[in-house]
Amino acid sequence: MLGWPGKKTRRRKLLRRPVEAEWTPFLLRNVAQFAQLYTEQRSRLLDHARLFVAEKRFEAALGYQITQEMRVTIAAQACLLLLAEDPIRTRYFPRIRSIIVYPNTYSAPVKSTGPAGVVTEGRNWRAGEAWHGVGSGVDGYIVLSWADVRRGGANAHDGRNVVLHEFAHALDGEFGSVEGAPMLKDKAEYRAWAQVFQREFDVLRAAAAHGEPTLLNKYGAQSPAEFFAVATEAYFEQPRQMKQMHPELFGQLKRYYGWDPGGGGLG
Ligand SMILES: [Zn+2]
Repeated sequence: MLGWPGKKTRRRKLLRRPVEAEWTPFLLRNVAQFAQLYTEQRSRLLDHARLFVAEKRFEAALGYQITQEMRVTIAAQACLLLLAEDPIRTRYFPRIRSIIVYPNTYSAPVKSTGPAGVVTEGRNWRAGEAWHGVGSGVDGYIVLSWADVRRGGANAHDGRNVVLHEFAHALDGEFGSVEGAPMLKDKAEYRAWAQVFQREFDVLRAAAAHGEPTLLNKYGAQSPAEFFAVATEAYFEQPRQMKQMHPELFGQLKRYYGWDPGGGGLG
């Protein structure tokens, strides 16, 4: 009996089609790492981005419209995290059902409870955020400001990229709570990860408390989850400095992401 074509068949079919001519200019303009990739890495990233765009839902904030440039840019930046994987078999952030794009930083209401239970409410300007479906019964989504996506993508070396940041949270939350560790192979890997990340997190917190300069964004001192997201941004944007200044952290991230954005093939 004939069934519906499976996911792998659908993906192979899609990747056999020619790449849309406008995609490469989008990537050269908005994904600074793209120009630095080897030929095989470039075509791999394009394949990932094509599947991501085909399989994810993009939504615009009210009164705004999604363009193909936005889809392609966000997909390719996010897929830098998955570059080492085979596109046919990749799980593209399975908990993230849709990506919601705002034109600019947007404000969101915040509530915080201080000492004596005093609740302060205000508004907070954001460049992006990640919400996970885990345990909540709803699908996860990622919200991004297009202005920040473009700014982050135009500069490959400033250590700031909101797409890498939010999708690192998505990897962190893929198999449970978001607490600074994605899915690793075994207990030994978790042990090594925890040792290195805890030590580096403590160093960043101490440096932030004393106002010392750091390679990693001090926002990462907030929590282990933010530390992983910030370390991911630095890994993809400042790999050489990270390798030199934080060799063990670099080593853990290289083992997890499976390729070195500072050079070297997909190996
Ligand atoms: Zn974050």
